[in-house]
Amino acid sequence: MGAWATARIKGIAKSTLEFILEVSKSSAPREFAGLLRAEDGVIKDVIFLPGTESSQVSATIRLFMMPNISIAGSVHSHPTSNTNPSRADLALFARVGGHNIIAGAPYDMRSWRCYDSNGHSIVLKVLDIEFDDDDSDLVLL
Ligand SMILES: [Zn+2]
Repeated sequence: MGAWATARIKGIAKSTLEFILEVSKSSAPREFAGLLRAEDGVIKDVIFLPGTESSQVSATIRLFMMPNISIAGSVHSHPTSNTNPSRADLALFARVGGHNIIAGAPYDMRSWRCYDSNGHSIVLKVLDIEFDDDDSDLVLL
């Protein structure tokens, strides 16, 4: 595996989380899935992946085994309010890194959870920081 940024993650930028919740909402009832990219220990970017199944996310991860991309984990939505990881989700989490967000309906600041690579619920701090937004949050494949 690549050098995941797990140990150095301080949190997620508030604007990135809001973006995730917006996209989750607009994708519903379909799921969306992506990878979380961190910069200086802060999750700031979502790399969108084609497809909606966790297994498809796993298949795409090998594309990101590059030393200059720091993947902190994954994000996907659940069209229900159930934010518990499925068995496929757990298999994904074990592969992608220590911070895996599941956003459930109604996609507000209280309806998401973060899991480590073992599928345990963890606290991910939401950081109200400003950052240069010239680079889009959205990286399309
Ligand atoms: Zn899931």
